[in-house]
Amino acid sequence: MEQMILASGLDEFRTVRLLLDPPVGLVPTMGYLHEGHLSLIRAAKAKCKSVVVSIFVNPTQFGPNEDLAKYPRDLQHDLKLIEPLGVDLVWTPTVDVMYPNGFQTWVEVDTLTKRLEGEMRPGHFKGVTTVVAKLFNAVQPQKAYFGQKDAQQAAVIRRMTQDLNFPIEIVVCPTVREKDGLAMSSRNRYLEGEDRKAALVLFRALSAAKEVYEAGERNAEELRRKMKEVISAEPRAQMQYISCADYDTLEELETVKGKTLLSMAVLIGKTRLIDNFVLS
Ligand code: AMP
Repeated sequence: MEQMILASGLDEFRTVRLLLDPPVGLVPTMGYLHEGHLSLIRAAKAKCKSVVVSIFVNPTQFGPNEDLAKYPRDLQHDLKLIEPLGVDLVWTPTVDVMYPNGFQTWVEVDTLTKRLEGEMRPGHFKGVTTVVAKLFNAVQPQKAYFGQKDAQQAAVIRRMTQDLNFPIEIVVCPTVREKDGLAMSSRNRYLEGEDRKAALVLFRALSAAKEVYEAGERNAEELRRKMKEVISAEPRAQMQYISCADYDTLEELETVKGKTLLSMAVLIGKTRLIDNFVLS
């Protein structure tokens, strides 16, 4: 496409989608874009003839006490950031398009979604897999791009794609960080003053565990202990979970071998942050 097209309704979206040359790359987002999102779009652009970005704040993946109402949104700013990247189609479906009246069809991944984030945020992944499956059906991309920042989400989407035989390659791109190490997130805007500094504790804890690993430690409990120690030293931080688990199944490990995910969720004041490192 010569020009970036913005579509909201389903018919309008489908008309433009039919004009796109394969391979088509999809980058699903909830908007309020930052460099993390843009890195996925650039990765898609490098490998795909056509790129579709979806922007949809998906209500079903937010719990009743979560930040749906105040989740940051700024479509005009998002479009300005996307425009220079050569995206073909930006789809901003409305809630009525994604969840028509009487909606009752869900996609759910089982065991993998019960751990870590799933344990803390019941129903979250059911919302994620349902909306991503719907995006996959509508866009029919050859490739779809996700961030390592949301490691469990990426693992769940990989599982769903295999289980439902979607003919889509799932590409997971590295976490983009601020200069000081804080993983970029739309929710970082909630961090003010001292909380912004305290938020670095996630990166510090992961780096400390990685250092211990690189020095030869393979006892997973030791790596978890190291992360806990660093987090407890930060008075503004309240740990929700820390994990040293198999990269694909997310089962907690006793001994580190193969591709391993160090991950955590930490409350800094009222802001909930997640981060992870991959050991391989
Ligand atoms: P969101 O808008 O938060 O739903 O994120 C949309 C996509 O961007 C997801 O695949 C995220 O994993 C990815 N993403 C978010 N933050 C980052 C980051 N700092 N680095 C890389 N990818 C990210």
